[in-house]
Formats: sequence, C-alpha cells, structure tokens
Amino acid sequence: MLNVDDAQRKLRDLTVRVLETELIPLTEATGRVVAATVRAPMDLPPFDASAMDGYALHANDLNLGRELVVVGESRAGHAHLGPLVPGSAVRILTGAPIPKGTAAVVIQEDVARDGDQILLNGSIEAGENIRRRGHDVAKTRSLVASGDRLDAYKISWLAACGVTQITVARRIRMALFSTGDELIDPGNPLGPGQIYDANRVALRELVSERSVEVLDLGVIPDDPTAIKQTLDTASEAADIIVTSGGVSVGDADYVKDAVDQSGSIAFWKIALKPGKPLAVGRVGKALFFGLPGNPVSTIITYLLFVAPTIDRLCGMPDNTPYRLAAILQGSIEHRQGRREYVRGIFETKGNHVSVSPTGDQSSNRLATFAKANCLIVVPEEAEGLKTGAVVDILLLPTDRGHIWTG
Ligand code: AMP
Ligand code: MG
Repeated sequence: MLNVDDAQRKLRDLTVRVLETELIPLTEATGRVVAATVRAPMDLPPFDASAMDGYALHANDLNLGRELVVVGESRAGHAHLGPLVPGSAVRILTGAPIPKGTAAVVIQEDVARDGDQILLNGSIEAGENIRRRGHDVAKTRSLVASGDRLDAYKISWLAACGVTQITVARRIRMALFSTGDELIDPGNPLGPGQIYDANRVALRELVSERSVEVLDLGVIPDDPTAIKQTLDTASEAADIIVTSGGVSVGDADYVKDAVDQSGSIAFWKIALKPGKPLAVGRVGKALFFGLPGNPVSTIITYLLFVAPTIDRLCGMPDNTPYRLAAILQGSIEHRQGRREYVRGIFETKGNHVSVSPTGDQSSNRLATFAKANCLIVVPEEAEGLKTGAVVDILLLPTDRGHIWTG
C-alpha cells in the first residue's frame, strides 16, 4: 500500500496550476489567492503625521522650560495652515498633519498649559512623535505577491494603501457529489434504512474558506451508469471532482470502476487510518478524488489531499502544516502499518502542550471531530502510544477561542 507521503508526492505531480486570473473588488477577495504582485500606489501615511496628542514644536524650542504661545490647532482631517515659527506651538492630535517647520511633537502630559501659553516640563528630541510620510509603507513597495491568500489583515492593509481591486487566480471549480442509496438531504424525513448526507455538507463547509466554486451534483444512487454519467458531466465543467462513498471493496462500490471507464485511477488505497480507500485519478481534464464514505474518513482525506490540491491549483506554494510537539495524556492503541490521525484536544500546561484523544475514534463518529482542535499523528511503525509519549499534533484550522481567553 502507498504511504501517505508517497501519495502526497504522486498527487503533487498530477496537479497542474490553473493560470486564469480575474480582477475583482478587494472587498470580495477574502480567501482568494493573489495572482500578481501588488505594489503600494502611494506612501502611507501620505503626509507627516503626529503619533500622539500634544503640541508641534519648532527646532529652536525643544528645551526644558521653554514658554510658547499656542497659535492654532491641527486635528485629524483638519490641518493647521501656515508654518510654525520659533516661539510658537500648534496644538496637535494623533493622526493630524504636522505643520510645516515642525521638528517634534511633545506629548500633552509633558507640558503645563495656561490659556494660550505652554511651558515644557522636559526636553524633546528632534523627530519625536512624528510618523514620517511613507514610514509604514513606501510607495511602490510590494504589499502582496502571487500565491498569497488574502485574509482580513492583508485586505485591510491593501485598503489603507488605496487599493480597491486585485488580480486573483480564478476560483477552482469543484464538482461534488455523494454516492449511496441510503443517503438523503437533511431537511427531509428519513425513510427506513436512510441516513442524512453529512459529507456533502462537511465538504461544502470546509471548502467555503478557500477559493472554490462548488458545483453541487447532489446524491447519486449506487448505480454504475448513473455514477459514470455524473462523472462525465462533472468532468466537462470542473477542475476537480470530489465524491464520497463507493470506493471501498463492498458490493455497491462502483465509483472506482466508473472512473476507470471514463478516465484513469492514479492510485487507490493508502496506508492511512481513517481514509484507506481513498482513490485519486483523472476524468477528462479534471482531477478526481474519491473520498471514502465514512464522514470522519471523508474529512481526514479532504484535509490531507483535497485542501492542499485546491491551494496548489490556485498557485499557492506548499506550506508547512501547523505542527507542534505535545505530550500525550491517555493511551492510543495502534497496529503497525498505517499512519493514523486521531482527533484530539490540546491545551498548554505550564511550558508544554498536552493532548488527549477525543474518545472512540470510529470513522463513522463525527462526534470525535466536534470537540477536537487537532489531529494526533500516530506513525506507521508505532505499536500503540502510552501516556507521556511525545507526539506530533496538527492544529485544525478552526477558530475555537478569542485571543484574550487563550
Ligand atoms: P461507503 O464508503 O460507501 O461504503 O460508505 C461507508 C459508510 O459511510 C457507510 O456506512 C455509509 O452509509 C456511510 N456514508 C457514506 N456516504 C455518506 C454520507 N454522504 N454521509 C454520511 N454517511 C455516509
Ligand atoms: Mg456507499
């Protein structure tokens, strides 16, 4: 059986970046991947500005004990017109333009004010409390580059520099369907032997943070002809086809055969738990991912194989996963052979990270994910892990807290 790393490498070789790009409004660009370097169209700040509330001072007037006349005010959005002359000061607020002739801003706490007069309680260095034009961003510096994924931080920075549109990789078109006679969509009453289709919901939710346009083809019954037809339709429109179910070795597992007829399987079955029956191949121009039907297997194989492929198709470089060393609390049973990903909860304890599995790890139990914030990696060669073992954990890309609560 192919191991996880070799499977990842094979998949990488099959992945051909989508080169089409589009120009879109910056405010619609969350999760999109930049396709061309954006350079700052202006300096930021665009003018010398005060960093504090205080008084603008002339170079001659920076010494302790100086008495000055306040001749005007500069507020954010309302500059003081006219230059600053020796012997005078201008009241200035944070973010306000620095009057011509200003050498420094003294903070209001360091002066005594009496009517129009101020008295300096200390000496000031030239340049103090002035944010120079362009000190944050100099015009023409690179803000984001090809392969960067846009998030709130990058988008707000671009907006501050006056950028309103951005060239990004076009969204990856993902055709999605579930297979199984037993599946129906949530919202409908369950008939005998039926279950709700959790995988399509899981996959739609998971891809929603990436640059993906989903073509949802619904639930397809365990019927070889229907599956083949759906694959053919999907391959005409999609860059990737993601299915769930029907790839193991049961009597009703027709997906792999259908791919063999319409395209080709590149690899099938991986030394992975959960997720062993994963099938990867091609149908027409589309990459094909046949994810196993058990919901936990579907999610694990999505995270390990589909998500990185989507990013690569968009032109993102491969990045290192968020991996931490942690000390295991509780034991994990494991037979040698497959690499296992166990849902866990990690927390920091003093100066180390501790992690515990989230209970019964059966691949049908989504409950193991509902509480998890990481995956514990159990190496192929491990013969079970005991309390105190140092394990690698992969942080799940979820937002489970606020920075002020840890
Ligand atoms: P399969 O891979 O088709 O043999 O499915 C394995 C197990 O996962 C079976 O118990 C299926 O009923 C279940 N399953 C398959 N697809 C889904 C789905 N979309 N949502 C929830 N459970 C599923
Ligand atoms: Mg099935």
